[in-house]
Amino acid sequence: LLALEGIRKSFGKNVVLHDIDLRVQRGQCVVLIGASGSGKSTLLRCVNLLEVVDDGRITLDGDDITDPRIDADAVRARMGVVFQAYNLFPHLSVIDNITLAPIRVHGVSRAEAEDKALAMLDRVGLRDRAGARPDDLSGGQQQRVAIARALVNDPTLMLLDEVTSALDPELVGEVLDLLRSLTQEGMTMILNTHEMGFARQVADTVCFLDGGVIHEQGPPEQVLGDPRQERTRQFLSRVH
Ligand code: ATP
Ligand code: MG
Repeated sequence: LLALEGIRKSFGKNVVLHDIDLRVQRGQCVVLIGASGSGKSTLLRCVNLLEVVDDGRITLDGDDITDPRIDADAVRARMGVVFQAYNLFPHLSVIDNITLAPIRVHGVSRAEAEDKALAMLDRVGLRDRAGARPDDLSGGQQQRVAIARALVNDPTLMLLDEVTSALDPELVGEVLDLLRSLTQEGMTMILNTHEMGFARQVADTVCFLDGGVIHEQGPPEQVLGDPRQERTRQFLSRVH
């Protein structure tokens, strides 16, 4: 579904991604792990075309999305993105947060957008909170609303950057359960996390990034349980 080939990205002299190759199959959940500053968020931003890559190619469903002639907004509309926290508009109700983009950007009628939004809220178990303000929800509920908002345009791919890191530990589980059920339904996802337990439970493939290089990738049991690279082992011993 998605292929990154030879991706390079630098900020000034700081080379943040070196020659990244990564393939994501449809229905797969790929989890990026690595120390702070290893390039995880930058990688997601490149896929979402929020950063222009210096070199290499990204193809989504066979389309070269790094082609400068591509319509970046149309490409982004094929992806659902959720970040760490605070990405809901505090002055809008839950349902208005979800219908804003469909109505304003995609030209969907209000009635249709609201039907779809309610179905998505149902999906994330929050239909009864449609009229609430984000502030009246717990962090885990807010993150589930953000996920519902990302799902409402039927994305081909979800990008999730540290979606549980701002949550109290007891709220992580509900977001994890939701993501796990989405992968079981065949959603394709790439996510970044510092939580190895989370990576282990949700990933089909774990990629270890260090200094902008993928040093090791494979099933979670292998990369997290029996890493082949010394660097991976050192990283895991620091985070465990
Ligand atoms: P964390 O786990 O802390 O979120 P990360 O793995 O997501 O870290 P990135 O945010 O991708 O790391 O950052 C990788 C490197 O790129 C860092 O050295 C960072 O300082 C640099 N960087 C990221 N964005 C920019 C930017 N817009 N301008 C300049 N440098 C940047
Ligand atoms: Mg990051």
